[in-house]
Amino acid sequence: MNNNISILDIIHDTTVDGPGFRTAIYAAGCTHLCKGCHNSHSWNIDNGKGYSIDSLLEEVKEAEFANVTFTGGDPFMQVEEFTELARRIKSETDKDIWCYTGYIYEQIIRSERLSRILPYIDVLVDGRYVESLKDESLIFRGSSNQRLIDVEKSLKSATVVIWNNRRIELSHIHMQNKFSTTSHIAI
Ligand code: SF4
Repeated sequence: MNNNISILDIIHDTTVDGPGFRTAIYAAGCTHLCKGCHNSHSWNIDNGKGYSIDSLLEEVKEAEFANVTFTGGDPFMQVEEFTELARRIKSETDKDIWCYTGYIYEQIIRSERLSRILPYIDVLVDGRYVESLKDESLIFRGSSNQRLIDVEKSLKSATVVIWNNRRIELSHIHMQNKFSTTSHIAI
């Protein structure tokens, strides 16, 4: 493993890639090639810029009150490097980590190489984007096949456990109702 990760972008204090304020690290490289992908520029790993794990860790630590999201692209295209980054985030901070991937959990868990990152991930958002299953009412994901997986509980129970997001779902529904009521009045 080299100490370089190809990164498209780092966005601080985003609120769309998981709950609360987050530092989103956008990995370059994706071979899933989903139709309707939000960012096909991310597919080529050479479109990224090389960052050391130390420099990414600094970015994460500087955002004192933000948690962390790995997204892209697909972070699993550089899984060894992201595993080391995740391990260090967990050992040097108390931040939680969300990770997006085009693989599904069942593929990852069967692979010794891919699954090494799982103990450091809190929530895995899994599965390719499927345009026919697009649903804009979903939180933190684009199509209904994608799952928000509680990784710790899934590893312990050897089954897929969906992240318990009831409080956030309720506030999302409340906001949707508020906006749909507002637009109704405006019309
Ligand atoms: S997994 Fe994500 S980044 Fe990769 S092609 Fe699909 S939507 Fe695009």
